[in-house]
Amino acid sequence: MKTLKVHGAAGVSNILIGESLQNLQNYIPAQHAVIITDTNVRDLYQQDFPPCDVITIGTGENIKNLATVRHLYEKLVDLDAQRSSFIIGIGGGIVCDIAGFTASTYLRGVSFGFVSSTLLSQVDASVGGKNGVNFGGYKNMIGVFNQPEFVICDMDLLQTLPAKEILCGLAEIVKHAALGDAGMFNYIEEHYQKALALDRDVIAKLVYDSIVIKSSIVNQDEKEQGERRKLNFGHTFGHAFEKTTAVPHGEAVAAGMVIAAGLSVQRGHLPAPEAQRIENLLKKLKLPTRIQADKNALLEALGKDKKRQGEQIHFVLLDAIGHAFVEMISIAELAAAIKNPGP
Ligand code: NAD
Repeated sequence: MKTLKVHGAAGVSNILIGESLQNLQNYIPAQHAVIITDTNVRDLYQQDFPPCDVITIGTGENIKNLATVRHLYEKLVDLDAQRSSFIIGIGGGIVCDIAGFTASTYLRGVSFGFVSSTLLSQVDASVGGKNGVNFGGYKNMIGVFNQPEFVICDMDLLQTLPAKEILCGLAEIVKHAALGDAGMFNYIEEHYQKALALDRDVIAKLVYDSIVIKSSIVNQDEKEQGERRKLNFGHTFGHAFEKTTAVPHGEAVAAGMVIAAGLSVQRGHLPAPEAQRIENLLKKLKLPTRIQADKNALLEALGKDKKRQGEQIHFVLLDAIGHAFVEMISIAELAAAIKNPGP
């Protein structure tokens, strides 16, 4: 097992990479603990849960809302959960986002931890302290910054993940390498087949390297005033694709990274062969590099981007593989990039 720390304003979060769900009991710092999980994870892994109260929620992005949070508050009251109780989210990004938000707001905040059960959640969603739910058609509109006391990343749980969920995680892993670690990018190029086959050692290294990048950025800028924006590489177009088509998040981000790399070339920052490497690697990982979407709907989605300021957007570009920076780009230039995506 390897450990990393995230230092947030509200406390330190210990990320335990390679720890097992079966050891969860050792990390619960309270007499009364409540597990929040979803139906899939409960059905697969409840035999490994410690003896705690369990609340089960449904699955899918459309249950990530205030109605589910309300249901959880009601259940917590029924279970007589106190400020001294401890909440544990066991699941993917949806469970962790909802459980973290519920724990942070119930009784003005009770302590919480996560057992992260998807690749995307391990490399991204459960690390960094963003907790929240969707509202009024907007993703993650309501939420808080608050760090879990611990995050257990149990590699064994990944073995039951559907293939499309693995791809979503791999897209975020490529993102981390592209924006922060050229050596990691080379490693994925060399080991992509083992990554796709979920080879335990390769995946454990990629999860660790991803969290090194994410945690070092969050440690500098927890609340996304500057440095943390780099983690949005590929996400401006990724979110717009997600909003306007039915493609899953990871696939949308993959195509978004290709556009962002292409823009980096067009603006003279990134050599074209480097952008081509990004596209080639995504293809090898069976991720899409182009997504057909209605251009006007895409532009409308870009216009509603949270990173927008007036007619410009804080956009993440690369000047090398492994080095990202943020530049303001006009929506008009982004519109032109839609017509001419990729390197
Ligand atoms: P998810 O939580 O919906 O999980 C995907 C599916 O896999 C679900 O059906 C789930 O039940 C199932 N599942 C979970 N663990 C499993 C396992 N071990 N074996 C088999 N099936 C399993 O999706 P996700 O991709 O983990 O997370 C997506 C969410 O994460 C989005 O809502 C996104 O907004 C959020 N997110 C948050 C952050 C953040 O910083 N807070 C960052 C990135 C993404």
